[in-house]
Amino acid sequence: MLTLTFLGVGGAFAKRNHQSNLLVEAWSQGPDHQDAPDDTLLVDFGTTGPIALHDLKDRPGFEYLAADGAVYYPRIRRIFITHQHADHIGGLEELALMNMFVHGDVATGKYFKPQIISSMRILVNLWDESLKGGLNTIAGRHALLQDYFFILALRPGEEGKDHFQMLKRYRFEPFPTDHVQIERKYDWPSYGLTATDTRTGESVFYSGDSRFDYAANAERLRAAKLCFHDVQLIEQPNPVHALISELQTMPEEVKKKTILYHYGDTWDSGPFDFVETEFAGFARPQQRYVLFE
Ligand SMILES: [Zn+2]
Ligand SMILES: [Zn+2]
Repeated sequence: MLTLTFLGVGGAFAKRNHQSNLLVEAWSQGPDHQDAPDDTLLVDFGTTGPIALHDLKDRPGFEYLAADGAVYYPRIRRIFITHQHADHIGGLEELALMNMFVHGDVATGKYFKPQIISSMRILVNLWDESLKGGLNTIAGRHALLQDYFFILALRPGEEGKDHFQMLKRYRFEPFPTDHVQIERKYDWPSYGLTATDTRTGESVFYSGDSRFDYAANAERLRAAKLCFHDVQLIEQPNPVHALISELQTMPEEVKKKTILYHYGDTWDSGPFDFVETEFAGFARPQQRYVLFE
């Protein structure tokens, strides 16, 4: 079984919900039969990620995330990074430092290193432009990304190097998203993900942060049994997320299986009530969705 839980469902600047980061859990038996999943993956870990995980560990079924009343980070075995905005990476410094200094023993080298997964370009930029400032000095020496993480650099679009797996059954394949353009489409790296159950062929679509790009994603959206799409509720010219009015132009059968996430704080103010009937609704935070049985 593969399950997905949003740590939060909010946009980058949301205050009523935590930011849109995911906990994906892979189970050989399922949560009714196991105290903890066999493998865990975060899809992004933003600025509000640590506090969201702190909340989640107190929910029924998520006790395995805790030890001594706090989040026990070694429970998180892998992290996939969609892109470099702080609402997707801002929690990584805490995760890295706590694995090394709180849950581990840096003097003996016995500390847990999760796997960090993304494209090579994102991983290089993640270190050079974001994480290096806080993580490159440990008392007495310099440190590198690989001191904190095992690195899995994918090459999206290149056969054999374009995916990773959980339990050798669930296949995750990133695809480029049209999120922020420097000069042209796809020139600032950002990714969405499809998850596929290789036993049944069923798939799930996760947009990552993206402008509305239906032509590029139509095939993936149509093939998926369930879709998660980011949404921006405030209309504006030249947005960096899919506008709700744009998502409304998708075919009925796609809208009916699409759950909207990464939304602003006004989602329940009235004008967006149609989302619960026109789409598969707004994503709910801290609730397990079963992707594949
Ligand atoms: Zn975002
Ligand atoms: Zn973003």
